[in-house]
Amino acid sequence: MHRILSDKKRLVCAMLLPLLGSSCLSFAGDHAAHVHGYADLTLAMENNALHLQLTAPAESLAGFEHRAATEAEIAHLAHIKQRLSSPGNIIRFHGTSCLLNDTEINTGALEPSEKETSPRQPQQTPAEHAEITVSYRFHCQSPEELTAVSLELFRQFAALEKIHAVWISSSRQGSGLLTPSKRTINLR
Ligand SMILES: [Zn+2]
Repeated sequence: MHRILSDKKRLVCAMLLPLLGSSCLSFAGDHAAHVHGYADLTLAMENNALHLQLTAPAESLAGFEHRAATEAEIAHLAHIKQRLSSPGNIIRFHGTSCLLNDTEINTGALEPSEKETSPRQPQQTPAEHAEITVSYRFHCQSPEELTAVSLELFRQFAALEKIHAVWISSSRQGSGLLTPSKRTINLR
């Protein structure tokens, strides 16, 4: 029986479906659960387009998993988004150059609440976990010359200990666990 896919997995599946076809279900089932200090990364290459998706517990990137409420938290969240929107902070390409076309950063669960009109109610619900997802779309000049990628994320986010990476192109695929001392994925 197939595992029920979370929204996150559906998203990755939808993105990779043209490449993976029916193997998408088993592939998506490999994804790690929400573990602080960890992140999931998917690299999908199709012709000149390289699609990179990062999913991480908010704790791994921002250091908290609730709506930013204090001025310091709101400023920190803005800073995190700024860091995530600069590709040099995320990934480095070896063998060819790839230019960032599009970025989508989703920090919805951490965004401050709308200004409250009624008197503030005491927080009744227990804190829930939250995730940050980021998608990048790159255009690579000569994708066939791309030999490896290095993840610069570890330098930017000290709480990040491990990244489970999956990469796939029309001709090859692989996966691996990356750490601050093992930041490079060899694609050959
Ligand atoms: Zn959490």
